[in-house]
Amino acid sequence: MSKYIEQIKKLVSLQGIDTELIDLKNKMEEAPKHLEMLQNELDSLEDQKAQLEERLKLLNDQKKKLEHDIEEDAGKIKKSKNKLMMVSNTREYHAMMREMDNLEKLNRFREEELNNLMEELQSQQSKKEELTQQIKSLRDELDACQATLDSELQQIQERILELERARKKACADIPVPILSRYNFIKDRLHNPVIVSVRQSVCTGCFISIPPQSFVEIQKGEQILSCPNCQRLIYWEEHYSGNKE
Ligand SMILES: [Zn+2]
Repeated sequence: MSKYIEQIKKLVSLQGIDTELIDLKNKMEEAPKHLEMLQNELDSLEDQKAQLEERLKLLNDQKKKLEHDIEEDAGKIKKSKNKLMMVSNTREYHAMMREMDNLEKLNRFREEELNNLMEELQSQQSKKEELTQQIKSLRDELDACQATLDSELQQIQERILELERARKKACADIPVPILSRYNFIKDRLHNPVIVSVRQSVCTGCFISIPPQSFVEIQKGEQILSCPNCQRLIYWEEHYSGNKE
């Protein structure tokens, strides 16, 4: 193998390491997103539940007050009925009858309100139970997701350490001026840094290189850059990076 091909081969294998590193670092950023989504969903359900509990408390207070008022006025009516037997004055009798009538009407109205309230309470209560169930299953999912994520992240981190060691070794094998060119491009362009030229097209930017450059690259003497995207290029007939 010529020295030129040897260098291309080393650069392509460095490229392989860098591509995997970039890929893993993206994965590390993406991985917690599903967890965050579940957490947001859980927070919103907890909020809904808290609101529902407040509403239930309010309805229960209303219920207590209504029950108390009904009982109180029922007591008044009962007392009036007893007193009614002893009233001889017609005007007083009618006044008491009217008052009792009003109280009875008021209580019938309250009973109706109480019925509506009980229905509302029941429906809110079953909503709360449903919500509690949802929260429980979401929390289970979240716990499972967290456990998976932790082991996934740990695996990724271990692989990154491995790759960083491999990268150091790969770099040590490449002549400094070539490595500097590689790193210069790496810091400025989107991955990849080194790409093949297929027929006469750069596979980094998919633009044809000039015929003169294509003739140069086929000679396989020095490492060229794509005049369009500046990536390092090599002729694919010289070396196929896929086969080791
Ligand atoms: Zn290009």
